[in-house]
Amino acid sequence: MALKITEDCVACGVCQPECPVDAISEGDPIYSIDPSKCVECEGYYDSPKCAEVCPTDACVPA
Ligand code: SF4
Ligand code: SF4
Repeated sequence: MALKITEDCVACGVCQPECPVDAISEGDPIYSIDPSKCVECEGYYDSPKCAEVCPTDACVPA
């Protein structure tokens, strides 16, 4: 399971450093999540951190 980033992303960059497994990368024009790396923050946080910090709610279940 993984999260994905939708077109609501405004490329603010806030989520990238928050990911404990470095699954988020800057793209053109929006950021993206590598589904092979994303662990939905299991073992790190109670809920997906990227979804928590995203100002536009662009991180959603894939
Ligand atoms: S849910 Fe967690 S592990 Fe997955 S991309 Fe977001 S911050 Fe990274
Ligand atoms: S926090 Fe949200 S809007 Fe900002 S780069 Fe990440 S997905 Fe995009």
